[in-house]
Amino acid sequence: MELFYKIFYPPRERVLQDNFGLSKIEKISALLNQKCYFVKSINKKEGNSLAENRVSNLIYEISTCSIDCGKLLSGFVMYNASSISKRNQKSLKNSASLKGIGIFTGSETNVTIRSAPEETGIVFRRTDLPNAPILPALIKYISPSPRHTTLRLDQTEVQTVEHILSAIASYNLDNVIIEIDGPEIPICDGSAHSFAELIEQAGVISQNKTKKVYHLSAPVSWSQNDTHLIALPSETLCVTCVLHSSHNPPSLRSQFFTTQVNTHIYKKELASARTFAVYEEIVPLIEKGYIKGGTLDSAVIIKNNEVLNPEGLRYKDEMVRHKALDLLGDLSLIGFPFIAHIIAIRSGHASHASFAKELLNKFTMEAE
Ligand SMILES: [Zn+2]
Repeated sequence: MELFYKIFYPPRERVLQDNFGLSKIEKISALLNQKCYFVKSINKKEGNSLAENRVSNLIYEISTCSIDCGKLLSGFVMYNASSISKRNQKSLKNSASLKGIGIFTGSETNVTIRSAPEETGIVFRRTDLPNAPILPALIKYISPSPRHTTLRLDQTEVQTVEHILSAIASYNLDNVIIEIDGPEIPICDGSAHSFAELIEQAGVISQNKTKKVYHLSAPVSWSQNDTHLIALPSETLCVTCVLHSSHNPPSLRSQFFTTQVNTHIYKKELASARTFAVYEEIVPLIEKGYIKGGTLDSAVIIKNNEVLNPEGLRYKDEMVRHKALDLLGDLSLIGFPFIAHIIAIRSGHASHASFAKELLNKFTMEAE
């Protein structure tokens, strides 16, 4: 069998060709006992569509060939100098609230987002518990939970944090108090749209102190079975997500989405993408009482390859866009902003958490 390894990074094409020419490819071919092919990196002059095409090819090859991403990338990818930039910290001008049902617990909660002083970070506050305990939105407080992200510190828990955190990260907010009077963030319509609206309602302000933004200098990868997560040095924050499984119904079998991420793009392309589930997979979970608050108003449900929601899909690739939304929320638990190109193949909340830890270690090591 012949495998095609196609690498598109980094943008410094000339350097890449000098340092990683044909001989290197041949060596790696011999090492892996496979024939390798090299596709040169993106030339910016070629424009986005061609660049995306090449990214698409790379991802398709990785997703269908099940290769060792770490070995591959460390062999090929040029390393940037590590760097840190700074921008002003951001918080909210006013507070804003919404009310809704948690998809897993079925409990109704009120959520209020509030301004917070510089250096607070993003923190939850359980106003229904004695002394209103604080729970910082950080990786170390992740508590394993199937199909969603839960944070826990001692007896204080907040479930399904990923969508609100995704919106907060994508509006570049650094200091926010999220008050909640129950155990789970409302699912709303299954997307981050309501949270983006909430942030806009509260208004974003710039604070005086600066925040460090970490720029990834070398690739980081994490793989387990068919799930691969890769971060590559990049000049802007980008995400690429792939859903790819022959077990999925045809409508979910293969979806690909790649984009640069900023607040404007997030709002337009990602915030409204809803969570999704295959009907046959969730019926047993509903019967066991694991999903108490799910309805067709809070998720896209696919049964026999048909979308059950009467209004249909918001984007034809809504599901993979939601993966990108989840990924941004989960990776925000690193606790500071960063610049990299994140590639996620068949990922989920548990793999996002493992990968976030790898990334945090990398950034921490580089900063020392
Ligand atoms: Zn989600």
